[in-house]
Amino acid sequence: MRRKIFRTIFTSLLLATLLTASLVFGILYMQFYSEMKSEVKREAAYINAGYSISGEDFLKNIEDASSYSNELSRITLIAPEGTVLFDNYALADEMENHADRPEIRKAILYGSGEATRLSDTIGQQTFYHALRLPDGSVLRVARTTASVFASAASCIPYLIAMVILIAVLSMFIAKRRTRGIIDPINNLDLDDPLSNEVYEELAPLLIRIAKQRRDLEENLREISRRQEEFETITGNLSEGLILLNGKGSILSVNPAAARLFDIDPDKSTGRDILTVCRSLQMQKLLHDAILGKRSETSISIGGGQYQMIASPVESHGLITGVVLLTLDVTEKFAAEKLRREFTANVSHELKTPLQSISGYAEIIQNGLVKPEDMPRFIGQIYSESQRLISLVEDIIRLSRLDEGGEMQREESDLFDLANKTVSYLSPSAKEASVTLETHGESVVISGVPQLLGEIIYNLCENAIKYNRPGGRVDVSVESRNSEAVLKVRDTGIGITKEHQSRIFERFYRVDKSHSKETGGTGLGLSIVKHAALIHGAKIEVDSTPGIGTTMTVRFPKE
Ligand code: ADP
Repeated sequence: MRRKIFRTIFTSLLLATLLTASLVFGILYMQFYSEMKSEVKREAAYINAGYSISGEDFLKNIEDASSYSNELSRITLIAPEGTVLFDNYALADEMENHADRPEIRKAILYGSGEATRLSDTIGQQTFYHALRLPDGSVLRVARTTASVFASAASCIPYLIAMVILIAVLSMFIAKRRTRGIIDPINNLDLDDPLSNEVYEELAPLLIRIAKQRRDLEENLREISRRQEEFETITGNLSEGLILLNGKGSILSVNPAAARLFDIDPDKSTGRDILTVCRSLQMQKLLHDAILGKRSETSISIGGGQYQMIASPVESHGLITGVVLLTLDVTEKFAAEKLRREFTANVSHELKTPLQSISGYAEIIQNGLVKPEDMPRFIGQIYSESQRLISLVEDIIRLSRLDEGGEMQREESDLFDLANKTVSYLSPSAKEASVTLETHGESVVISGVPQLLGEIIYNLCENAIKYNRPGGRVDVSVESRNSEAVLKVRDTGIGITKEHQSRIFERFYRVDKSHSKETGGTGLGLSIVKHAALIHGAKIEVDSTPGIGTTMTVRFPKE
């Protein structure tokens, strides 16, 4: 723009100068021409006067003077019938008749005449002025326009000097003016367009810029507000969220996803997702999503199980990105695995007593049992069916706990429940020659009495079952700080360290045959664990093989 303005100003000034110079030259030429005409007329008058006084001699003198200088006007004397009598630059005898020359004809008729034409003799543009003399002859004075042009041309060097001077000045002026026009535009404060005091023609533009700036700021505020909103929402999501572009490069990662893939959310933008998670399932998932198909898969990462859902983002019929959602399904996965195992175990555990019952019944049916052995066989069928019943009861109890339905909590006295259980189990304890006693104080907690009873019952039953004759079982209930502590201590066979962490698993038994002998199902401690969990209680096992076991359950008192 700067160059354009400069060029425009400069050429305008230069053109104006050239035009002026040409005009001046033209005017000068005209001026000189009209002066030359007046001079020729004056000259003719002087020569006429001279000729009237000195006659032929005057003309002779002029001829002589003309031979020294060719700057004199051309003087011709023509007889009334047109014969040339004298010419100071040509031989009169050789010149043709001049009677038909317009200036001559006019002079003969009116006393004087003039004409301008290309001279036959000299071959130049010539001005002629003719005067009729008293004797009827005609005196003609002529001068070429070349002399006028020469006079005018003498001004040309001055004109050229003037043009050059003006051109230099124009350049300087154009430069200054250009800077004067451009600088205010360059120095515009676009941060505050309305504060500028420049050309009023720029006002609409500045008003528009100010408005667009306001709109832009408003849009930016809106965008950053939405961005913050998005970051707050995704930042607090426990699910991982990754946004990818259409080529699988990361656009944004929320903290949960960054933790899962162990990446820095600020430095992962632009990374290919497959450099973060290389699994084949992820490759297939992305491939499907980029082709526009929503797909899901389950991937194990760092010991956990995660469900990945990839949804394509479509814009104007093109897949422009992918939203990848990761859900932690470790617990669900483990629960499903447990359930599958539980179903398999239940079938197996139920099959064993049923097979025994069926076997005994078949032998009896075939008449292979002697009458005296009959009570023993029927007793076996009875004990196996009892085992079956207690197994089914335990399974039903666990299933109810698994269902996790709403259970009515009420103020329950743990000591009271312990006493009731102990008195219920006293016959079994007596049968096993085990002393069963309660100690402690009344501690009231909010809980489900039926579940609390089951906890105490199962712990006490185990303490009796896995005891030795003459042994002891002490049940104590006491309040300690914010906890209600239930302890069941026995002097039984104890549990080795490697089994202590596993005895709460479903159907886990340290010694299968001993457990079965005592009517164990392998589910008692699973029920205890589940019921304790519902009450927010913690269970501790302290056991030494051959010496005894202490099971401690700590209930929060709220
Ligand atoms: P079970 O019906 O077999 O008793 P539990 O789930 O109640 O099943 O107990 C799991 C296993 O833990 C038992 O088979 C037993 O080996 C062991 N156990 C539980 N309590 C005691 C205890 N007080 N002393 C020794 N071993 C125990």
